[in-house]
Amino acid sequence: MNTHFDVIIVGAGAAGLLCAREAGRRGRRVLVVEKADRAGRKIRISGGGKSNFTNLDVSPENYLSRNPHFCKSALARYTQWDFMALLSEHGLTWEEREHGQLFCEQGAVAIVDMLLDECARAGVELIYDCEILALEKPDRFILQTSRDDLSCDALVIATGGPSIPRMGSTDFGVQVAKRFGLKSIPFKPALVPFTFPSGFLAGLAGISLEVEVSCNGAVFREQMLITHRGLSGPVILQVSSYWNKGDAISIDLLPGMDAADWLQSEQGVRPNVRLKTLLSEKLPRRLAQALCARWFEDGPLQQFQQKRLREIGATLNAWQLVPSGTEGMRTAEVATGGVDTAELSSRTLEATKVPGLYFIGETVDVTGHLGGYNFQWAWASGWCAGQFV
Ligand SMILES: Cc1cc2nc3c(=O)[nH]c(=O)nc-3n(C[C@H](O)[C@H](O)[C@H](O)COP(=O)(O)OP(=O)(O)OC[C@H]3O[C@@H](n4cnc5c(N)ncnc54)[C@H](O)[C@@H]3O)c2cc1C
Repeated sequence: MNTHFDVIIVGAGAAGLLCAREAGRRGRRVLVVEKADRAGRKIRISGGGKSNFTNLDVSPENYLSRNPHFCKSALARYTQWDFMALLSEHGLTWEEREHGQLFCEQGAVAIVDMLLDECARAGVELIYDCEILALEKPDRFILQTSRDDLSCDALVIATGGPSIPRMGSTDFGVQVAKRFGLKSIPFKPALVPFTFPSGFLAGLAGISLEVEVSCNGAVFREQMLITHRGLSGPVILQVSSYWNKGDAISIDLLPGMDAADWLQSEQGVRPNVRLKTLLSEKLPRRLAQALCARWFEDGPLQQFQQKRLREIGATLNAWQLVPSGTEGMRTAEVATGGVDTAELSSRTLEATKVPGLYFIGETVDVTGHLGGYNFQWAWASGWCAGQFV
């Protein structure tokens, strides 16, 4: 085969496939090189097989990045409505769940099939089971691969982030950036459960409740799940992206109410009711019992001094816990960090110091909240680069 292409895209994931489709539609000769034996592995398993492919309410505030302004341009030019229109063209439909999250009714695989169909129509070529062994740029890019040696004028790195290494995820994008002298921010597991010392939450596994959790200025109110290893659930995944080793998280177990005021007024009305009985009216019974046994004390409300009730109320509204760690890349849904946005054009995603080299998707230091935001970044950044390569 003629092994020179206008554009080679490394990675047949969310960002790479949309970029390939756009470049192909512009008449570019495009090859997508994929290490795995199939495209879109993370799309296939996303959203419990239904893919939370975007969100009705996307804004730059839903993203973490050293430069919070970087994502604005791409998100404004390729929106959630554009991707929904593409689904509609293929007869795909979606269901809206809480917080504006959209899931594909035909399933996640239908989205991969749609992207592959779009790529085929745009004349894009794909090769699977292909690894990049060496990369040079004397004038154009020369790629030595486990199959053929290839060359191209524009090279797009769309290899995602290192979360879930058992799926073959790597930090390839950051390695390429380093190879060309571009800065990166270390990858860190995000959207990941917290772990605690064994026994700390003993007997509480399985309890789920709505709480408000804050850490380093970020605040989320959603469900929390106590597990055998620590804390999980959407609210914990969200806040984990902002957490650094050693930080405390603050959990409001009774969001929306002043717990100290409530305890003091109940003491006046029902002095004989026991604290654990009262707490069981607002919290799961097992949690109320454990709080009184391990963190507070139990007894009829009349036994508690006002000062102690205020302390207990303050703890209920802001329970300070220091996780011992996270479950790490093994279960993290994404990773923060990646190629430093200071090295890239926010309009084209091209490296300013290396003409023709582009980085898109999760490999860039832009990480979304839980809720379809990571795919929207992948679609948007892929689409933008696809207009210029
Ligand atoms: C379990 C799970 C569920 C998720 N659910 C959601 C969700 O519902 N909604 C949401 O918005 N986000 C979700 N995410 C996050 C989302 O999957 C990613 O943010 C998104 O896939 C990133 O797109 P990408 O194109 O940058 O990378 P990816 O989709 O990861 O694609 C990267 C591609 O590059 C390939 N590759 C890697 N290294 C090489 C190499 N050296 N050579 C060639 N190819 C290579 C990979 O095999 C892969 O095909 C989920 C993630 C996981 C792990």
